[in-house]
Amino acid sequence: MTVEIDSRKWCQGQVVELYRWAERLYSLRVEAEIEPFEAGQFGRLALPVGEELISRPYSFVNAPDERPLDFYFIVVPGGKLTPRLANLGPGDVVWVSRRGAGIFTLSHVPSGRYLWMLATGTALGPFLSILKTETPWQRFEKIVLVHGVRTAAELAYREVIQGFHRQHPRQLIDFACVTREDTPDTIHARITTAIEDSTLESKAGIVLRPEDCQVMICGNPAMVKDAIALLKARGFQENLRKQPGQITTERYW
Ligand SMILES: Cc1cc2nc3c(=O)[nH]c(=O)nc-3n(C[C@H](O)[C@H](O)[C@H](O)COP(=O)(O)OP(=O)(O)OC[C@H]3O[C@@H](n4cnc5c(N)ncnc54)[C@H](O)[C@@H]3O)c2cc1C
Repeated sequence: MTVEIDSRKWCQGQVVELYRWAERLYSLRVEAEIEPFEAGQFGRLALPVGEELISRPYSFVNAPDERPLDFYFIVVPGGKLTPRLANLGPGDVVWVSRRGAGIFTLSHVPSGRYLWMLATGTALGPFLSILKTETPWQRFEKIVLVHGVRTAAELAYREVIQGFHRQHPRQLIDFACVTREDTPDTIHARITTAIEDSTLESKAGIVLRPEDCQVMICGNPAMVKDAIALLKARGFQENLRKQPGQITTERYW
């Protein structure tokens, strides 16, 4: 039995590379002729499974003008799609939504002096896509990128971040928060703990306050929820369509 695929919605992508960063952590690089998207948005990846086309959203890691498309994902044990994505190899077909979607983009973030980007795990992806464009560097005086992971082996895309440092040496501050290991040059704490005890602020030399900071948060829903609560206690407000604020979020599940 074959699955019927709506060609108005899906285009056939070809896997260029499946790169393994650590146990269960991969980047899937795909050539597909999708429509233009905005940095920070996500596309959908899909595979036929039996009589069904199983699809899930994945943030673009590549900049809008960069190819191949780059998706950074973790295998969820027992998950419907991710164990299958992790079995793909060069030349295999994966279906990609023609259009990107989502409002986790700088065009939805009000102006500010400092931009904070807080990510857990694979949610580093949309921030990398945004940082590969000129917009954040033109709009914000300083950018603080914080990546929360469990182990140092999960600190993917470090060379891309080093490239941002080389290009924007006075603008970028980046921190890795590693929870399960005490690793040199990292913060041994959850992102939320490092907000609460002011570690991030004191290391960045920037006060985390709504007067001049915009905060984008992406990833684990528990981290997003807890970070929102901590920031609200400092006077921040969520950035809603009808009421602009300083906290813009995207939850991955
Ligand atoms: C807007 C958006 C963008 C996303 N972008 C990415 C991305 O760039 N990279 C990425 O890896 N995932 C991303 N996700 C999550 C992704 O869409 C899937 O939910 C995930 O890959 C699991 O798919 P699955 O079919 O294997 O598991 P499923 O069979 O759908 O579900 C298994 C269960 O696992 C849980 N789960 C989902 N994601 C995770 C996770 N990362 N860690 C732990 N538990 C999880 C959920 O509770 C889910 O119900 C994004 C989600 C959203 C909403």
